[in-house]
Amino acid sequence: MIVVLGSASMDLTTYVAVAPALGETVMGREFRTVPGGKGANQAIAAARAGGSVAMIGAVGDDSFGEPVRRTLAESGVDVAGLRTVPGPTGTAHIVVDDDGGNSIVVVPSANATITGTEEGDAERIAAADFLLLQLEAPMAAAIAGAEVARANGTKVVLTPAPTQDLPDALLSNVDIIVPNEHEARALSGVDDLDKTIEWLLDRVPVAVVTLGEQGCLYAARGEEQVRVPAFAVTAVDTTAAGDTFVGALAVALGEAKPVVEALTWASAAAALAVQRPGASSSMPERAEIEALVA
Ligand code: ADP
Repeated sequence: MIVVLGSASMDLTTYVAVAPALGETVMGREFRTVPGGKGANQAIAAARAGGSVAMIGAVGDDSFGEPVRRTLAESGVDVAGLRTVPGPTGTAHIVVDDDGGNSIVVVPSANATITGTEEGDAERIAAADFLLLQLEAPMAAAIAGAEVARANGTKVVLTPAPTQDLPDALLSNVDIIVPNEHEARALSGVDDLDKTIEWLLDRVPVAVVTLGEQGCLYAARGEEQVRVPAFAVTAVDTTAAGDTFVGALAVALGEAKPVVEALTWASAAAALAVQRPGASSSMPERAEIEALVA
């Protein structure tokens, strides 16, 4: 079983030719609302990839809360640990221009109320094989969740995004850290990828650095590094590529797939997601992943 502790939000995405500069008003081409948030994205990706998944988080009692909850439930995620709290649901305000570039403002709202210590949270984490964490929920919740996980033999997988300083109280309980290349460099403060990986392995036993269309790099203390290439596909929207990768990776590791096979499986899920627009809207079903790796 996989438990995800993290954000569940509504992505409000506007498509424009050229993004407005500060103080400027431009006409948009299209507007879409699609459930997202890094926590929900990882939960949905894992459930569609065939995992048994429960979400710990919070939505608001506004008009966005129900559709976000429903999308998780319809993807097969157990939402008993997703509380509804007074006030707005978390939102991400995204502007995508014609070059596919984007700028994003994330407003935590209900996600800021996540503690990781509500009734039933500890039991869910203790019963799981993996706890997936990202950093859109409060750091204190991630720390609390990781502590329960470590005490109960649940493996902790951390996506260190959005980038921020990672306290030892969190890092000391992380088993696998999965940054993208930019996050990895920002964390370590060095540019060189080998030195960055050394920095990560000084703190966490296993690091998987995702490199966009260059694939991913797996590094574990005392083991040879493994590089797995990305699938050659035409990307239309890379939103949630990393979250899809992590969700699918947890499913593969939970099924005891060997490392290269698990990384290939995760890369396939992400390659399918980048070929479709949006976050939750782009994540593949297990059969599609199996067809691509076959
Ligand atoms: P993030 O979405 O967190 O920025 P990356 O951009 O590194 O993370 O992407 C995560 C994974 O998604 C990569 O390791 C790769 O497997 C896959 N991926 C990302 N972009 C592409 C692409 N253009 N073509 C194929 N696979 C991709």
